[in-house]
Amino acid sequence: MSFKCGICGNTSKPHQSATRIVMETRDKIYPVRMGVHKFRNRLGTKIEKDDPGGIGKEIAKEILICPSCAVAMNVAEGVLEEISKDLGEK
Ligand SMILES: [Zn+2]
Repeated sequence: MSFKCGICGNTSKPHQSATRIVMETRDKIYPVRMGVHKFRNRLGTKIEKDDPGGIGKEIAKEILICPSCAVAMNVAEGVLEEISKDLGEK
C-alpha cells in the first residue's frame, strides 16, 4: 500500500516502508475497574483484583513519513543531542 509522506508530501514507491511519528499526545485518565483481574492462587481459590486505573498519554495525531524524511529527522535529532551534550559540558 502506498502512502503520502507527511513531511515532503511525496507518494511512496511500492514496498517502501513507512515510519510513524507522533505529532500530538493528549492526557488520558483510565478509570478504576473493579474485579477485572481474575485468577486462582496456589490453593485454587478464585481471586478478583481491581485495576487501579491512572493517568497516561494517548496518541492524538500521528503521521506516516518516508524513509528519507525519517533519516533526515534522525539526523536532526542526533544533531540536537550533540548540541545539548556540548552545552551540558560547558
Ligand atoms: Zn518524505
